[in-house]
Amino acid sequence: MEKYGQIIDKEKQKQAKEYQKKKIIFKITGTALFLAYFLILIFSNLSFAIKEKILYFTDIQWQIIALYIFFILTFYDLLSLPLEFYTSYTFEHKYHFSTQTLKDWFRDWLKSYILSLVLAIPVIEGIYWAIRTFPQNWYLVITVFAVFLAVLLSHLSPILLTPLFFKLKKIEGDNELAQKLIKLCNKVNTKVKGVYEINFSSKTTKANAYLSGLGNTRRIVIADNLLKNFTPDEAEVVFAHELGHHVHKDVLKGILLTSLMYLGAFYFTSFILKKASLYLSCEISDISNFPVLALSIGVILFLFNIPLNFYSRKREQNVDEFALKTTGKVDAFITSMAKFTNRDLADAHPHPFIEFLLYTHPSIGKRINYAQEFKKKIELEKQKE
Ligand SMILES: [Zn+2]
Repeated sequence: MEKYGQIIDKEKQKQAKEYQKKKIIFKITGTALFLAYFLILIFSNLSFAIKEKILYFTDIQWQIIALYIFFILTFYDLLSLPLEFYTSYTFEHKYHFSTQTLKDWFRDWLKSYILSLVLAIPVIEGIYWAIRTFPQNWYLVITVFAVFLAVLLSHLSPILLTPLFFKLKKIEGDNELAQKLIKLCNKVNTKVKGVYEINFSSKTTKANAYLSGLGNTRRIVIADNLLKNFTPDEAEVVFAHELGHHVHKDVLKGILLTSLMYLGAFYFTSFILKKASLYLSCEISDISNFPVLALSIGVILFLFNIPLNFYSRKREQNVDEFALKTTGKVDAFITSMAKFTNRDLADAHPHPFIEFLLYTHPSIGKRINYAQEFKKKIELEKQKE
């Protein structure tokens, strides 16, 4: 029996099932492409051939690695460009999610491509340096390094990366919603410096509000889409959810868990790399075996993500409870969920196996159910009093 049957549009849910099914097919296609690309590189000896070619130009270790990664990633990005274009441009336009022009899309694609090289080359140089210097324990060195990098990026990305793709504008102090959100932060002893609006609408119809930055630079960021299409109560409860993550220190917990995951992934990878290098009769520090490294890390991280997603869904539920408790706005929570579902074409009731495998949040159906149970509990408690 669905009490919120009227809230979640039935027609839209039919579309949502279609949309989500296709997205899963794209995901599987992307994964297949990743696996095929790196498997072919190893088993066709292409990886070794590329390195041989590079040796004509240079025999300096770091230059060999930089050129090799440049070629491998560029080929991969070009190969996956049609799929990338179809899934994030054509398909998103078909469902009226994307508001980007063709030119903007290509400019962003180019930016991401350059960014991926700028990030990947130093990281992979670092990994191979560690393998050469600590052939037995490189996975430990790399884990420490990876955790450091993840922390650094999560702190720097709002300052350095977000402005590359979006514009932020300060919302003046007399705005009603801005004042409400600051009040909410004060209620749970979180200091913030100002409220900013981000122009998500320049690229997408998606909406969100969140806390960004640390300590003195911490500020509230609201997507213009949220301001335009959601009531102040709904926007408040959406933000309260994000505030909950901050209060529950979910970022820190996330970093700790990710560190453990990295340790496991790099340990297994060091084991696999050793075996593969014996089989391919090359040294473990030879950049030609990079496809083995990429495949191993890719597959292991995917597997580790399954228990991590399980834990994430638990945390999301706790944070929903936090948002309901601090704002007391259960109805606004439910209507905001329904708005997200209708607008993003989220499947309110995905197949349990898909939810288990891929969902970082409980399904919208479950979140609404939970809010309704929360409301009942509150009403019962009131009656007792
Ligand atoms: Zn969340």
